[in-house]
Amino acid sequence: MKKTDSSSKQGVSRRTFIKRTAAGVGAATVMSQGLLAGHPGQTEARAEENPQDLVPQIPVGQIRETLSADIVVVGLGISGICATLSAIEAGAKTIALEKGATANARGFDDGCVNSSVHKEAGVHYDRDQLIAELMVQANYRVDQRLLTAWVDHSGEAIDWLRARLEPKGVKASLGGSESATEGPYKVYRTAVNWTGQNARLMAELEKIIREKGGDIRFETPAVKLLREGSGPVTGVIARQKDGSYIRINAKKGVILSSGGYDNSPEMMKKYLRPSDLRIERFNSKNTLCTGDGHNMGLAIGAAMDEPPHCLITGNGAVAKDEFYLVMFTPWLRVDALGRRYVNEDSDYCRAANANAILPRFFSWTILDSRWSEGPEADSQYTNYVKRQLEGYVGKGAALTAATLDELAKKMEVDPVVLKATVTRYNELAKNKKDLDFGVDGEKMKAVEKGPFFAIQVRNFALVSVSGLRINESMQVLDADGRVISGLYASGNTSGGFFGDTYPRNVHGISHGRAITFGRLAARHAATGKI
Ligand SMILES: Cc1cc2nc3c(=O)[nH]c(=O)nc-3n(C[C@H](O)[C@H](O)[C@H](O)COP(=O)(O)OP(=O)(O)OC[C@H]3O[C@@H](n4cnc5c(N)ncnc54)[C@H](O)[C@@H]3O)c2cc1C
Repeated sequence: MKKTDSSSKQGVSRRTFIKRTAAGVGAATVMSQGLLAGHPGQTEARAEENPQDLVPQIPVGQIRETLSADIVVVGLGISGICATLSAIEAGAKTIALEKGATANARGFDDGCVNSSVHKEAGVHYDRDQLIAELMVQANYRVDQRLLTAWVDHSGEAIDWLRARLEPKGVKASLGGSESATEGPYKVYRTAVNWTGQNARLMAELEKIIREKGGDIRFETPAVKLLREGSGPVTGVIARQKDGSYIRINAKKGVILSSGGYDNSPEMMKKYLRPSDLRIERFNSKNTLCTGDGHNMGLAIGAAMDEPPHCLITGNGAVAKDEFYLVMFTPWLRVDALGRRYVNEDSDYCRAANANAILPRFFSWTILDSRWSEGPEADSQYTNYVKRQLEGYVGKGAALTAATLDELAKKMEVDPVVLKATVTRYNELAKNKKDLDFGVDGEKMKAVEKGPFFAIQVRNFALVSVSGLRINESMQVLDADGRVISGLYASGNTSGGFFGDTYPRNVHGISHGRAITFGRLAARHAATGKI
């Protein structure tokens, strides 16, 4: 019997993944207990299921054409596009397959260490200290060799991009700011930004690939790897737009750069920790990252990170199509009972962790009418929040009231508790010393003069960042740690790199890994060395 491919098997609506208990601003978002139950370890999970079932069985008769290449790159996100160009530049005949109708660009922070951009800005990081920071943040549940590969090779990867992009008018600059901290975390100014952000970067790289005669096939998802027994991976089968299949033999290797599985509710449930599933919505615009590379790898004997995996989460105010309001603010936050609960001055990933274990899994940011006054009064961020806040009140994602009593009523919070919290917070803010939670006193904003605002803050998900086990040449490994010859993984399809929580204070490390590892995978596949 003909089976469907893995993406359609996983085609459960992301909306069905989230259950709201009630509508409106007071509603809590919870995952059904059924969804939260059970987090089998990899060994258990694989014992329960036949990995072959993770990919479709394709009768030979359905393969319309056989092509050959040196290298096949699966997925044209930022990792795949860097892999494709690197492979072509290394002289490899390369075919890039992309599931969607276009390449996939997001964001703007591309992390790297000690690139030429850093040198020009006079910023230098100690290699060993940064590796140690990342190891400690991950509690050593990661492969230090991979962190070292990123720290040692990411600067040269960004310089490689710079040499190709700056002649096209895409200038590189250092992201972040000199003195920034994210609560208790030191900020690493590892992010490089580009004119036109990553959308421009991707568009220019695609043009360069085409100028070099690169073969890019959109709407042609890879569905299955070719491997005989314990031999090398020799190619891939892909589905064309008309439903027919092609086989591509790859002499030097297949690079899986198909992103995460953040659009597969089944995989999210299977591999993530329950508290990470307490999300209001997914923020990834791309709906095609359904873990295809992970499943194709598992089906031919690759090993994967053990659950619970790492998901980049964040939190912010809830309104349609908008999640960034108060995402970065250190202002007063209270739980659903009106109590302060955390040092508010952390990055959005760590803030999401704290939110996820609250009663009803959300918090409120409380502001008064003078919230925008002070040294940051005219900052880009303050102006942005000002513009948005009105709209949020209109959409019901933020509440406003003339008095704290009224506000508490609207929040369904005991007014006595809320007023006690605010009184204590104001006292600490006045003395510029947060004796309770340790926020820098200069950043605290007293809540004194109405009208008051309460902005509901919930969690969202960006992308999953755990995956297939690889070595420092990006070669995929089996459960015994042996190389599966001919198979590479990079970016969010690869694993061993992120632990419990995304280290957001090392700016842009997710794109940085994707760029660097895509490039290294291609170089190794093409030349045998990175
Ligand atoms: C809104 C948003 C903003 C972000 N901003 C930042 C930031 O500023 N800095 C940062 O470091 N990180 C950021 N991230 C995270 C970052 O974008 C990802 O971690 C990064 O894009 C991963 O790159 P990738 O190439 O591995 O995967 P992706 O960029 O997800 O690309 C994977 C590609 O593979 C394709 N694909 C999937 N399955 C198949 C298949 N079977 N065959 C062929 N193609 C397939 C997909 O369509 C996609 O084009 C952001 C994420 C989001 C959602």
